[in-house]
Amino acid sequence: MSLNIVLIGPPGAGKGTQADQLRRIYGISKVSTGEMLRDAVNARTPLGARVAEAMASGRLVGDAVMIEVVRERLSRPDVAAGYVLDGFPRTVEQARVLDEMMMRRAPVIPIVLRVSEGEVMRRLLQRRLCVGCGLTWGGLDPGGTVQQRCARCGGALVRRPDDDADVVRNRLRVFEEATVPLIEYYRGHVAFASVDGSQPPSRVTEALRAAIDKARGMVRHAASQQAAR
Ligand code: AMP
Repeated sequence: MSLNIVLIGPPGAGKGTQADQLRRIYGISKVSTGEMLRDAVNARTPLGARVAEAMASGRLVGDAVMIEVVRERLSRPDVAAGYVLDGFPRTVEQARVLDEMMMRRAPVIPIVLRVSEGEVMRRLLQRRLCVGCGLTWGGLDPGGTVQQRCARCGGALVRRPDDDADVVRNRLRVFEEATVPLIEYYRGHVAFASVDGSQPPSRVTEALRAAIDKARGMVRHAASQQAAR
């Protein structure tokens, strides 16, 4: 049975970082809608032109566009063994369509990363993106000063345009409005889990592993009971 994980949380909750870890641990694909859209904007594709304005102001891109992007991505062979979704779904409508798409595959394991608004603000204002390799950094080097260069490739580090304080406030408001009802929607799923995202990253990864292993057991149990009916 494929392993399909959905990570939900406010911007800066660590979804991207943890999705990278889960990809490595479980050998599944990472599907980050934010990364896909940023690539489209940078490459000036027609999709990029459609989403650039919403992204720059911290609004959500429309459901129809997002569903089209994800439907195409999840139809590729590399996700057959499973995936970890980072940044999708963000609305109840997106979640409903994803559930429909998974009817003939394994149900998703939705996991919320809980982080306070103050912590998210602090993280996002420090966050830097490498222009060379695209890696995200926490902003401070181990000595506690602001990091200037990417420790992996030496590229310059820049702030993501939507990590500006005003845009971050907007993104947090959007999260409350659109995504909090999404969490309510997922609470009814058999495999729903919630993890404290304010712990150090390695502890969050451990907690995610434990939650996923438990949720997998529950999904299998539910599937075998359904088959027996
Ligand atoms: P992220 O990197 O996940 O914070 O996404 C960056 C931006 O891309 C968001 O602020 C939205 O404008 C857009 N975006 C990414 N995923 C979605 C989604 N599932 N639904 C709507 N907009 C999205």
